[in-house]
Amino acid sequence: MAEPSDTAHPHPADAAQDPAADGPGPSRPGADLPFCPQFLHRTRDAIILQDIEGHLEWMNPAAEAMFNVSLDAVRGIKVMGHVLPDGARVDPAKIAAFRYDIGSSLFDRTHLARHKRVGGQVFWNLHSFTLLATPMGPKVAVTCRDVTETVEAEQTLRHAKARLQHAAHHDDLTGLANRKRLTQYLASDILRRALAERRVGVLHLDLDKFKEINDTLGHAAGDAALRHVADLLRRFCGPQDLACRIGGDEFLLVCLGTATEDALLTRAELLLGATHDPLMWNNQAIRVGLSIGACLTQDSTERGEALIHHADQALYEAKTRGRGRVMLYTPALGQVQIAQNRMTRELRLATAEKQLTVHLQPQLDLARGRVTGCETLLRWNHPRLGQLPPGAFFETARRAGVLADLDYQSMHLSLDALTRLHAAGFDDLTIALNVSAEALTDVNYPGLLDWALQSRGLKPSQICVEITETTILQGGGRTIAAAVDRLKRMGARVALDDFGTGYAGLAHISEIEVDEIKLDCSLTANLATDPRNRAIVRSIIELCRKLGTHVTAEGVETAEQLRLLRVARCPAIQGFVLAHPQPCADMIAWLSANLPLPTDFGRDPPEPRVTRLHPGD
Ligand code: C2E
Ligand code: CA
Ligand code: CA
Repeated sequence: MAEPSDTAHPHPADAAQDPAADGPGPSRPGADLPFCPQFLHRTRDAIILQDIEGHLEWMNPAAEAMFNVSLDAVRGIKVMGHVLPDGARVDPAKIAAFRYDIGSSLFDRTHLARHKRVGGQVFWNLHSFTLLATPMGPKVAVTCRDVTETVEAEQTLRHAKARLQHAAHHDDLTGLANRKRLTQYLASDILRRALAERRVGVLHLDLDKFKEINDTLGHAAGDAALRHVADLLRRFCGPQDLACRIGGDEFLLVCLGTATEDALLTRAELLLGATHDPLMWNNQAIRVGLSIGACLTQDSTERGEALIHHADQALYEAKTRGRGRVMLYTPALGQVQIAQNRMTRELRLATAEKQLTVHLQPQLDLARGRVTGCETLLRWNHPRLGQLPPGAFFETARRAGVLADLDYQSMHLSLDALTRLHAAGFDDLTIALNVSAEALTDVNYPGLLDWALQSRGLKPSQICVEITETTILQGGGRTIAAAVDRLKRMGARVALDDFGTGYAGLAHISEIEVDEIKLDCSLTANLATDPRNRAIVRSIIELCRKLGTHVTAEGVETAEQLRLLRVARCPAIQGFVLAHPQPCADMIAWLSANLPLPTDFGRDPPEPRVTRLHPGD
C-alpha cells in the first residue's frame, strides 16, 4: 500500500531502549480516559490513541504486542519516523511539523503498509484513522491489524496465477507468445486502433529445411534452431509488437506502427540478413534459413486474421520461389491463390468424376526400326477449362497434397491402356509411366503397382517407371534408391527422366541403378543448332552404352534432329516427329495405320568410317 507521507504512525521504538518498557505496567492510565472503554483492552485489533499532532497517548495490549513495546515506554513520542521500514523513512523536520488535518481524506480509508516492529521485523499493517471529538480536544484513534499472512498468501497466489497465465499464453520451448496470446492480441484495442489507421505489418516466417535439421542432426538440434529463430525475433520485436510461435517451425511478427512496404520489407530483410550468422550447436555450425511472407494493412476495415492469412499466402509464394527470401502480399497474388484454391477443390472431385485420362506417345527403337512401347501422360478433362496438361495442375496438386493420388490414378489408367493395346493385337508393347516423389516414397507404392499388374494379368517387365531428378531430390536420395531397388527386384524397368536438366544427372546414374535415361527435350531441341550440345549428347549416349544403360531421346520434332540422333547412335527416340501424345483409342488407330513404319524411320545410318569426336559433327 502506498503510504501517505503525512500519515502519522505510532511507534514505540524509543521504548526499546528504555528499561521501563520491559513488561507491562500494573496499571494502564489511558484506560481511565472517559472515551476509552474497557473492551478496548481485549480487542484483537491494535488500537493506538494519538493527539492531533501525532503524539502517542495510549495503546491497548494488542498494540503493545504488535509493535513489541510497552505503553509506558512510548507514551508521548511522535512515532512516524520509526514505524517505516528502512528505505521509507520520512524527513525528521516533516515529522516534527506534522499535525493531522481534520478535513483530510486520510480518515475515510483503510491503509495497507509495511511497518516495522521494535527489533526490526517488518509486517503488513492494515490500518485506519478515526477522528474523535473528546473533552480534551480532537484525538485520533489508529486501528491496526497485522495481515502479513493474508497478504503473503495473496501474493503467492498472484504470482502463481501470473505464472499460469504466462504458461497458457507462451510457448514452452521458445518463450514466445503462442496462438492463444495471438488471438488475445488480435482482439486488443491497441491492435484494432492500429489496423484502423493502417499501421500494421505482419511477417510470417517459416524455417527452411527444418525437417532436414531434425532428421539429420536430431530433435535437440531442431529445438536449438527454433530457439535461435525466437532469439532473432526478439531482437527485431518492438515494445508494442508481438512475436509468436504459431506452430512447428512457423513464427509470426506483428509489427505495430509499420505503415509502409519499405519499412516492413526492411525489417524482413534485416531478419533474413541475421540468419547468415550460423547457430553454433555442439561445436557444429548450423545455418538456419528462413522464408518470409509479408503483408501490410490494405484498407482500414481489414481484420488482423485476414492480414495473417495474406502473410501466409505470401510465405507460400516465397517458399515456392525458392526459399530464403521475402515475398510481399499483393491483391494479385491473392487472386492467384484463390484460383489455386478453386482448382484444389476441383482436383479432389476430378478423380471421383473420372475427369482424368492418359494420353499415349509411342517410343521408337532406332536400331530395330520398331515401336517398342508408349509413354503415358496424364491429362485432366477439366469441365470449365478444357483439357489440361500436367504442367497446369501438378503444382497445385502437390501443394494440396493430392499428387500421389493422381499418380495412383495415372498408374491404373496407364495399365488399363496397356491392356487395351495388348487386346488390340500390339501385345509386345510396353508402357512407361511417370511417378512423383510423393507416390514413390509411399511404402505401399511397389506393392500396389504389383497388385495392379497382377490383377490385369500383366508382367512387371512390361512396364518402365520414369522418375525425374527432382523426384530424387524431393524424396531424399536414399529413400528413392530403396524404392527403385524394390521396383527392380519386382522385375520392372526404371528410367531417369529429364536427363540433362538437373545438376547431378551423372551422379544419380551411379547412385541409383536405372535401366534407362531419357534425354531431355532441351538437349534434343538444340541438336541442330548447337555443336557443343551435339557433343554433349554424343558423350552421354557413348557413356550409357558403356554402362549398359538404354537411352531414349525425348522431344524429337524434326527429321534433322532424328538424323543427328541416328548419327550419334541414340538407341531410341520419342517426339512429335513420330507422333503426338493421344488418347488410347487414337493411339491404337495410329499404330494400326502406321506399323510397320517406313524404312527411313528405323534404318541405322551407315557406320562412319572415321570416328571423330569434336563439336560440329
Ligand atoms: P515428361 O515425362 O518429360 O513427358 C514428356 C513431355 O514432353 C510431355 O509433356 C509431352 O507431351 C511432351 N512432348 C512429347 N513430345 C514432344 C515433342 O516432340 N516436343 C515437345 N516440345 N514436347 C513433347 P506433358 O504431357 O505436358 O507432361 C509434362 C510432364 O508431366 C511429363 O514430362 C511428366 O514429367 C509429367 N507427367 C505426365 N504424366 C504424369 C503422371 O501421371 N504422373 C507424374 N508424376 N508425372 C506425370
Ligand atoms: Ca516421362
Ligand atoms: Ca522428360
